[in-house]
Amino acid sequence: MSFNVIFFGPPAAGKGTQAKIMEAKYGLKQLSTGDMLRAQIAQGTDLGLQAKEIMDAGKLVSDEIVIGMIADNMEKNPKARGFIFDGFPRTHAQAEALGVMLKEKNAKIDLVLELQVDDTALLDRIKKRAVEEGRSDDTVEAMKVRLEQYRSYSAEVLPYYKVQGIVIAIDGMRPVDEVTMQLEAVLADDINS
Ligand code: ADP
Repeated sequence: MSFNVIFFGPPAAGKGTQAKIMEAKYGLKQLSTGDMLRAQIAQGTDLGLQAKEIMDAGKLVSDEIVIGMIADNMEKNPKARGFIFDGFPRTHAQAEALGVMLKEKNAKIDLVLELQVDDTALLDRIKKRAVEEGRSDDTVEAMKVRLEQYRSYSAEVLPYYKVQGIVIAIDGMRPVDEVTMQLEAVLADDINS
């Protein structure tokens, strides 16, 4: 049986950082729609050109685009023990589509780990990341939109999984290694059961 988990949380909550650690530790493949979109931009594809403007404004790229990318990448990794979905799903339609794709493989979302970080800390992290990584959407302006978007899409997506009783809150304000320990405590318990 595969094991599939969603890392959910606001921009700069540390989803990518933690997903990479868990990927190595548990043999789960990280699928980040943000990374996939940035790769398209770097390659200068039509899709990338289309997405860049939307991303720089802090808005959501269309469901069709991100669902298609996730489907492709799931197909490309048939041997993975399971997936860590990072930055996806962000809408109800994406959550539904994900459920259908997993069902075709006799799988489901087993766990949603919700990283909680307050807005002030997020803004500080984004300012730091802007200097370190130079992401064109890490501006204070775009960040405000991304935080608003987060509030709206988390209210749309989290209840979908909460009724299934699979959402677990993680304190994302702690240092990286302490967040890792919290995630491991939950994952180690669930992955083998
Ligand atoms: P962050 O969570 O730090 O904002 P991401 O790398 O996850 O960064 O996403 C960057 C941008 O890519 C988002 O602001 C959005 O424009 C786009 N994007 C990523 N994933 C999705 C998705 N599932 N649905 C729609 N747009 C997305």
